[in-house]
Amino acid sequence: MTFLNETHDPQLRCWLPSAHAPGTDFPIQNLPFAVFRRQGRSEPWRGGVAIGDQIIDMAALASAGVLSGEAQVAAQAAASDKLNALMALGHKAWSALRLALSRALREGAPQQAALAACLVPQAGAEYDVPARIGDYTDFYTSVHHATNIGKQFRPDNPLLPNYHWVPIGYHGRVSSIGVSGQAFPRPKGQTLPPGAQTPSVVPSKRLDIELELGIFVGEGNAQGDAVPITEAEQHVFGICLLNDWSARDIQAWEYQPLGPFLSKNFATTISPWIVTLEALAPHRVAFARSEGDPAPLPYLDSPANRAGGAFDIQLQVGLRTPRMAAAGQGDASICRTSYRHAHWTVAQMLAHHTVNGCNLQPGDLLGSGTLSGPTLDQAGALIELTTGGKNPLQLPGGEQRVYLEDGDAVVLRGWCEKPGAARIGFGECWGTVLPAR
Ligand code: CA
Repeated sequence: MTFLNETHDPQLRCWLPSAHAPGTDFPIQNLPFAVFRRQGRSEPWRGGVAIGDQIIDMAALASAGVLSGEAQVAAQAAASDKLNALMALGHKAWSALRLALSRALREGAPQQAALAACLVPQAGAEYDVPARIGDYTDFYTSVHHATNIGKQFRPDNPLLPNYHWVPIGYHGRVSSIGVSGQAFPRPKGQTLPPGAQTPSVVPSKRLDIELELGIFVGEGNAQGDAVPITEAEQHVFGICLLNDWSARDIQAWEYQPLGPFLSKNFATTISPWIVTLEALAPHRVAFARSEGDPAPLPYLDSPANRAGGAFDIQLQVGLRTPRMAAAGQGDASICRTSYRHAHWTVAQMLAHHTVNGCNLQPGDLLGSGTLSGPTLDQAGALIELTTGGKNPLQLPGGEQRVYLEDGDAVVLRGWCEKPGAARIGFGECWGTVLPAR
């Protein structure tokens, strides 16, 4: 577990004025990673670090000779078109780079001119999926989501008895994971409409979102070696936003007995920026279970996990219909919640994933599962927000939504703020539904 150090000091001053703009997601205490290039140019993708409204170009920085030692090795690893090499270096290297960048960005730093020469405006950048993702696993860590969804699919038996013991997950698909800005056609598939005797193949009528976080694995583990929970977080590079688009009508027909398949694998959108666990350290909170829930088995329990294994990450979902976009309106907020309500922590997901000897690799992605909070306005999916379609959402301008319509755009946002710590954010994760092909 990473603890507070000089890089978290809320009093730090950066020589870049936009790093102090009110409400910025990217102050000097954050320093998240992405893969980017300048729009409209045939130039290579490379790693970058956000500061204010700029990106520190890691390829330019690595060749500038400003850094030294382990930080320079990490900057060189971050200079390529995917961040896997940086992820594989491990937490000491990420931490050395973070400290060196933090010091070089402070007012009065002798490296200011050299670093300023490596800046690219975010406004002129485009982003790519930040890692070569080998495997993607989606968990189910919100007990509120599991209960709400379970009520719709199995009214008499919503929460299955293994839920309190096993961090439930399934293996997802990597090829359809895209970065913010992804637009995809409405999926078609087999559904069994109410009252029908035989299924038919139609464009999904119940296209939904899932508000999730994505956890990028750093250093991997050898096949056969479980990662103990006390070391699990050392294998985590950082966290991004993740929208697990879901076709509920396809899901309802296909999910038994092996779980989601074509209802989930047509598109998954992640934010370009990965916020490191070190940056999130001030926003740790105790991991607590409701009274009456069984204690986790020993391999899923540790004093550090109990004391601070959860993160208070504020989450919000916005929806913008084509009519709202045409009228020049922004998105309407449809959900506000926090990651602190999750039933299993990042460390527990990783320890569980490897308990059987499964080997994780640098760049693997773990989805948290839909992060619904305890009340319905904190639900991270339309199927919950509308109680299975019975209560349509009322949008500004008089429109209603039950599920997503063609042209709808959805944005996820995440940020952390509390007294005594700098506000840090995850940027935005946008995706748009196109008509079925
Ligand atoms: Ca999911």
